[in-house]
Amino acid sequence: MTTHCTKSPELTYGLDFTQKEIDDAIKDKRLLSLDLETSLACNLRCIYCYSSAGEKRSNELSTKSINDIVDQAVNLGVRVISVIGGGEPLLYKDILEILSHIATKPVRRIIMDPIIRTDC
Ligand code: SF4
Repeated sequence: MTTHCTKSPELTYGLDFTQKEIDDAIKDKRLLSLDLETSLACNLRCIYCYSSAGEKRSNELSTKSINDIVDQAVNLGVRVISVIGGGEPLLYKDILEILSHIATKPVRRIIMDPIIRTDC
């Protein structure tokens, strides 16, 4: 079942892609969106946290690896990259370098969520 946005019925609600774009991507084995979880570091400890964020993990991907993932996604046709952190995305040491790298790519949108002031 597909739920459609009432304002733009051609868009699949919450995905910002038309059903045709989704069908074409599946047919052509292309990627439409990428969610990047850069770090599980977070200075909050919400009891409902889906990722048990808190301390930075010792095996986080390097900046080079994350930028390589972005490049691979772009080569696969990605159109939306969401930087959602996993924890607090602004706590990743090279977040500005990653965002700058994404900004050079022909992606439609960059989303960062959650964005929490982190004076820790
Ligand atoms: S990642 Fe989000 S939900 Fe999890 S502890 Fe941090 S602010 Fe709370």
